[in-house]
Amino acid sequence: MTTIAFIGLGNMGNPMAANLVKAGHQVQGFDLVPESLDKAAGNGVDVATSAEAAIEGAEVVITMLPAGKHVLSVYEHLVPKAAKGTLFIDSSTIDVASARKAHAIAAEHGLLSIDAPVSGGVGGAEAGTLTFMAGGSDEAFAIAEPVLQPMAGRIVHCGGDGAGQAAKICNNMILGVSMIAVGEAFVLAEKLGLSHQALFDVASTSSGQCWSLTTYCPVPGPVPASPANRGYQPGFAASLMLKDLRLAQEAAQGAGAATPLGAEAAQIYAIFEAMGQGGKDFSGIIEFLRGKAAVEKS
Ligand code: NAD
Repeated sequence: MTTIAFIGLGNMGNPMAANLVKAGHQVQGFDLVPESLDKAAGNGVDVATSAEAAIEGAEVVITMLPAGKHVLSVYEHLVPKAAKGTLFIDSSTIDVASARKAHAIAAEHGLLSIDAPVSGGVGGAEAGTLTFMAGGSDEAFAIAEPVLQPMAGRIVHCGGDGAGQAAKICNNMILGVSMIAVGEAFVLAEKLGLSHQALFDVASTSSGQCWSLTTYCPVPGPVPASPANRGYQPGFAASLMLKDLRLAQEAAQGAGAATPLGAEAAQIYAIFEAMGQGGKDFSGIIEFLRGKAAVEKS
């Protein structure tokens, strides 16, 4: 049994903490929102009255927070107060520069740390089947891996500090761009009188094959479990896709990488969000593409 402090018990953090409890760990949780704490208490988490109280006696501190600024403020506050030997794991999706800064704060105080963002969404968090993409030293990863196990379907050690966040945003940039491409193909097929099923049957077994087509198909019918069959209820919300595409753009600018399709995808999702559609599944972008076609024709 490990004593784990869990900071940030929102949509993802709460079910992740619950799986750690189920695996027999002592989990001490904190969140700013009282309802999240109540929910965590119902899942067997020992709720604390402050972040400092949550890390008392903890061997591992896990953070699952909205963005880089929240992670850095929690690290600046908690790392100096943490006991010698405490491992810090940040599973939030944040920018690579902030992730590296968080590692540096831990290192300044002689503590090990891992950036370990996830994919798999709330469903994966509940089922304990998240994919963790970890960045940090071999020594830190060796301690982190068994702690992550009860929440994970897969754990990949991607490299040094920030490599987990780098893997996450590169993957999601592929996903955002490919979903738009698949949506465009279906909109073109509709205009050409080609049925959804016919395009699916061809492309899913040809060179157009990709996850956005075969798992998250943006039209209802060919893949019964895809969000298109339930009015684009997420799934993975368009606003979260936009967040990740913007992180990828920030990283690309900082690193001097050319990502013109990533930039265009970020712009398209930004318009979709500005139209009040950010809460829809990101595959709902096909509705925006149909609307755009209608506007351009008129
Ligand atoms: P969320 O907004 O539901 O949860 C974040 C929680 O952090 C909130 O409950 C908030 O009160 C808490 N918080 C903020 N500042 C705090 C502080 N200083 N101290 C304690 N608690 C604090 O978000 P979420 O959906 O759980 O996502 C968390 C992270 O995981 C994000 O970075 C997100 O991008 C990433 N992520 C989300 C999904 C998803 O499908 N929701 C999938 C993969 C990754």
